[in-house]
Amino acid sequence: MSEPEKLIVDGLRLDGRKFDELRPIKIEANVLKRADGSCYLEMGKNKVIAAVYGPREVHPRHLQDPSRAVIRYRYNMAPFSVEERKRPGPDRRSIEISKVSKEVFEAVIMKELFPRSAIDIFVEVLQADAGSRTACLNAASVALVDAGVPMKGIVTSVAVGKADGQLVLDPMKEEDNYGEADLPFAFLIRSGKIESIALLQMDGCMTREEVRQAVELAKKGALRIYKMQRDAILKRYLEAEEEMEEIAEGREDA
Ligand code: ADP
Repeated sequence: MSEPEKLIVDGLRLDGRKFDELRPIKIEANVLKRADGSCYLEMGKNKVIAAVYGPREVHPRHLQDPSRAVIRYRYNMAPFSVEERKRPGPDRRSIEISKVSKEVFEAVIMKELFPRSAIDIFVEVLQADAGSRTACLNAASVALVDAGVPMKGIVTSVAVGKADGQLVLDPMKEEDNYGEADLPFAFLIRSGKIESIALLQMDGCMTREEVRQAVELAKKGALRIYKMQRDAILKRYLEAEEEMEEIAEGREDA
């Protein structure tokens, strides 16, 4: 990717978005038969899939915690997910993303309800275009609800970048590569209200005032994503209800 001369032209970003606009988002829950919960999510050109297993028995058993469930999170990028083939397997970056993402869900899942068990969250990045960790957190959150894992709220994640001196919501690849800063956020949202910041990372430089503005911009974006997560979950449960009704009707006919 060659460096563009400017990241913002006539007040618009290179993909035509305003500074406070998200990329198009698509969310579908319950996409994998063998997982307890799953989700496919697109955020712009990011395409990710999350699978949740558990609560289930911990292997190896010495990792069991008698007071709570162990939360495990694996972020993995497919070799074909980036422009130049990525070597398969974990690297420093994916280990770091897995660690911070796990900590987000440790704070949100009611893990004390499931002593000695494990809740495994696997996220696979099929296509990456900056902000893949945020897309994965959003997908994992929906997959956890799909699996029926009790949580204090929903995790919703979005980044704020700085491009040509301007704060931009949900930066894409060019803004991430050639911008001045990138701040991924995750929020805990309960009943439509932001309860707390569950993740805040920072790459690059921002002034104190810019960080304050970035938090506000991220919150606005997160509330919009939250609505889409909620819609995907509602759709999934409505489908389940219809299926149950069909089964019940089938029984009556028999
Ligand atoms: P995030 O995807 O959460 O923004 P980074 O800021 O570390 O995480 O990465 C930004 C983008 O850089 C990724 O979304 C991806 O498009 C690209 N990228 C990351 N790792 C690699 C890699 N090993 N090879 C090529 N591109 C990569």
